[in-house]
Amino acid sequence: MQVFDDISTLQLRLNAWRTKHQKIALVPTMGGLHAGHLSLITLAKKRADKVVVSVFVNPTQFAAHEDLGSYPRTLDADLQQLKACGVDGVFTPTAAQIYPEGKAFERSQFGEKIHLFEMLCGQTRPHFFFGVLQVVRRLFDIVEPDVAVFGRKDFQQLTIIKKFTTGVEIVPGDTVREDSGLAMSTRNQYLSADERKIASQLHAILTQLSSAQLTKTQAEVLLKQHFKLDYLSVLDANTLGEIDTTTTQVAILCAVFLGSTRLIDNIIYKQTGKACS
Ligand code: AMP
Repeated sequence: MQVFDDISTLQLRLNAWRTKHQKIALVPTMGGLHAGHLSLITLAKKRADKVVVSVFVNPTQFAAHEDLGSYPRTLDADLQQLKACGVDGVFTPTAAQIYPEGKAFERSQFGEKIHLFEMLCGQTRPHFFFGVLQVVRRLFDIVEPDVAVFGRKDFQQLTIIKKFTTGVEIVPGDTVREDSGLAMSTRNQYLSADERKIASQLHAILTQLSSAQLTKTQAEVLLKQHFKLDYLSVLDANTLGEIDTTTTQVAILCAVFLGSTRLIDNIIYKQTGKACS
């Protein structure tokens, strides 16, 4: 496994692989790796000959009041896990390498589709998806992967990346959970032992809603007993619009605050009621 902290050395290696007609997969991460990230790497290995993982805490997706400064940075442990997984290359750029001109993203270029950036998580984090798309596009420009793998855990993010990407196949990976049902997340490190127990209620309640054991209103009441509710939405999973007669898959999407930690989760299921992930 080679670690690249320099774009030109990385690109030399990528070109050598491409010359041999080897297919390249990219798995973008912000580090603080857990089994969810590793499952995306396993998927990437099935879809390509060489797997590159980027580890970069992207400043443009954090608002000034958010946790950019305290976000877990565990590069040594991350590299050990990536080596054990058989990753071929790890890209660990600095912010100056990713944003040499220090430019903010141009919102105006997205026209009407901007609604996708402003709904759900975009309401509480209006900057977030612009920053995510900015870094993903920059990473795609640098690596030029054939395939890139993203988690369904961040379903709105996945939807936006799919919609605004051409020329790179976007492969979704299922959400990996703790035994308690809590979706794995780097930010789970912020939770105390007591909070972790409470956090598992999030998936339990969404599961009951997806199996019609609870109505949406009942689910909201239960969520509010444990958390500060940010949003609970039931939408068409393909469009993130309202459910209508053309809907084949339903997405239950939720964000809550537990203390100062924000948790998101979702359940995607066929209109027939069968869970997809
Ligand atoms: P992050 O490092 O949090 O930016 O996440 C990097 C990638 O890992 C994103 O595509 C996430 O959707 C994905 N991811 C995060 N948590 C999980 C999880 N529990 N299961 C599967 N994928 C995940």
